[in-house]
Amino acid sequence: MDAPIIELAARVKEIKASPTLAVDAKAKALKAEGADVLNFSVGEPDFDTPPHVCEAGKAAIDEGFTRYTPVPGILPLREAVCHRLATDHGWRYQPDQIQVSCGGKHGLYNMAQALFGPGDEVLIPAPYWVSYPPIVQLAGATPVIVPLDEASDFDLDPAVLQQYATPRTRGIILNSPSNPTGSVLSARALEAIGKMALENSWVVISDDIYDTIVYGDDKLPHILEVDPRLSEQTLILNGVSKSFAMTGWRIGYTAGPKHIIAAMNKIQSQSTSNPSSVAQKAALAALNGPQDFPRQMRDAFVPRLNFIMEALTAIEGVTCVRPRGSFYVFPNLSAYFGRQSQDGRVIGDSVALADYLLEEALLATVPGAAFGADQFVRFSFATSMGVLEEGMKRLADALAGLR
Ligand code: PMP
Ligand code: GLU
Repeated sequence: MDAPIIELAARVKEIKASPTLAVDAKAKALKAEGADVLNFSVGEPDFDTPPHVCEAGKAAIDEGFTRYTPVPGILPLREAVCHRLATDHGWRYQPDQIQVSCGGKHGLYNMAQALFGPGDEVLIPAPYWVSYPPIVQLAGATPVIVPLDEASDFDLDPAVLQQYATPRTRGIILNSPSNPTGSVLSARALEAIGKMALENSWVVISDDIYDTIVYGDDKLPHILEVDPRLSEQTLILNGVSKSFAMTGWRIGYTAGPKHIIAAMNKIQSQSTSNPSSVAQKAALAALNGPQDFPRQMRDAFVPRLNFIMEALTAIEGVTCVRPRGSFYVFPNLSAYFGRQSQDGRVIGDSVALADYLLEEALLATVPGAAFGADQFVRFSFATSMGVLEEGMKRLADALAGLR
């Protein structure tokens, strides 16, 4: 085939399209063709957006709230974010310290564009969420991957972190509870991170998007509680995608130091201008309305978590750290690497295994390689009990079929 006339920019050649969204699209296409695919891939609550939130969106349209809004988001929504951060966590922010963006992913993008550039290194503990490294790379900076260990429940070992820090380190991205492991960072790890951040002027990006989906009653330790000075160099990322089942509305928010938020607003003013006016009104209803929905969703996930943990760990050779939050499990399936399928294919890695599971068992999962951890495969359990039961049967059979 002839090379296309138009060359692409180097930056786009460096990155891959989001693998979570790619597997989800593949699963949905197969389903549309009539295949009985069970989709454990994309991380999206299987709940509908609460009715009062949808009503607020509809009312916004009917009232003609359909024009550009202020770049950082409407003031009442930024006030509502401040209110939630104060009420739920005791953190004090002013509206000019908040940016509302087109989803949390976009907030991370704005942060990276505002903070990082060529020569900068950003520490990313792995397993990591698929979009962190490309977002850092798109800013021209270098992601530096810090390995976490399954044996210590994917907590961060300060001594390991130390090995990856250099004079070029500008920041670190934390995600607790984590996508894909569901693990949380211990107070000890956060203390060490906070100390290094203070000593070396790192920015700490705390992606708290799963903080309403936590199992157990203990309050999670948080970087902002390590030392009050850290609020001057920490960005909190959150949004309504997971907490209010609003993935399609595209509303996320960042809280942080005023000058960084102002810089992110400059970027936003020259890219998306503002998040959808209608979606902002819906998010306002979510944050200001009753807060029982996130809890109900969390409670509904508990029996599913118990079921999938039991089913996975009953399979020979499979280990799985029990998630403390989120709706993912990240089993280690590497005991099956090197084995062969009936048709003679060797399963060499997580990509081959996920392909095999999709083709042989019609199970859509995301290979661990996408999260920087090849021994694992991610399953989202934000799906019905019926799908979980059938899915775990298919998984056990498909793995047993490998010789
Ligand atoms: N952070 C993490 C860890 C995620 O899993 C996601 C995926 N939805 C996001 C951020 C961003 O979510 P959204 O853009 O839908 O707000
Ligand atoms: N964050 C979810 C996931 O990891 C949604 C898809 C995406 O944005 O990556 O599956």
